[in-house]
Amino acid sequence: MNDGRNRILRSSVTRAIRLIGDRWSLLIIRDAFQGVRRFQDFLERTGTSRATLTNRLRALTRNGLLKRVRYSDAPERFEYRLTDKGRDLYALALVAWNWEQRWAPRGAGVPLQLVHRDCGRVLRPVLTCGHCDGMLAFRDMYNRPGPGAGVRVPPAAARYRRLSALTAATHRGSQSALTHIADIVGDPWTPLVLAAAFFGLRRFDDIQRELGIATNILSTRLALLVKRGIFDRRLYSSQPDRYEYRLTDKGRSLYEYAVVLNAWGDRWLASASGPPYLTVHRVCGADVEPILRCGHCGEQLVPGSVVSSATWREQKRARA
Ligand SMILES: [Zn+2]
Ligand SMILES: [Zn+2]
Repeated sequence: MNDGRNRILRSSVTRAIRLIGDRWSLLIIRDAFQGVRRFQDFLERTGTSRATLTNRLRALTRNGLLKRVRYSDAPERFEYRLTDKGRDLYALALVAWNWEQRWAPRGAGVPLQLVHRDCGRVLRPVLTCGHCDGMLAFRDMYNRPGPGAGVRVPPAAARYRRLSALTAATHRGSQSALTHIADIVGDPWTPLVLAAAFFGLRRFDDIQRELGIATNILSTRLALLVKRGIFDRRLYSSQPDRYEYRLTDKGRSLYEYAVVLNAWGDRWLASASGPPYLTVHRVCGADVEPILRCGHCGEQLVPGSVVSSATWREQKRARA
């Protein structure tokens, strides 16, 4: 599978991961969608340190996902609000939430239950094709080079990341939703290893060549992903022993996250020449523009259309 060497490093997924591919940024975005704006509130809910939070808020602001707005003059105080680019991550946050509802281990904290305001049903998001409206199933999609395929992206900024960031205690903050998925995708290399799997690579050497990742880093990531039930490891040759890594059902169902992240990257981060890779929906033959809809009423899920079940009950009582 050497036809498109380093396709993944040139894809929008890689660019997007550069911006939001660490667990704290994901959790900050999660909280921003729930209306959190102030430093202290982010601090309590995410459970990160002041220094890390300062650093991530600064990066998210610099990269245009949050904007810093002054809300008090003396003393001077700022709050952080999602920009359009940040709000456009809404589908990603819901896909992450949905995956976590399904796969987070017991005891990882009960994720919030959400309700779709338009129909009043418990949220069941469905990823659909913007062209034919059909469901986007993993087996019905494939990738092809796009207009920006030749454009080089500098090597991933993942070098400085230590393993401790990967195995950090998960639920330090007051909010536990999305912490399981943040543990899996919240590291700059792991989503790339997953992307390699979605591109059909299974063997250690193939993944290593494709990503240009150090073998020890790759071994650690693969071992963690096996431990977390994302890959099954199978021996395919002996003397020396060689293994391949196959996505489990749990792993395969992360494709929605990858598709939505890639589409966001295409919209906001692609070079002037266009998206580097296009995903094709086999069913209709169109390039995939994923749209997240309510599985009950079919409406598109946009910011504000989903509330926690507690909020929904309160509002219902207030209306009665
Ligand atoms: Zn389609
Ligand atoms: Zn609905």
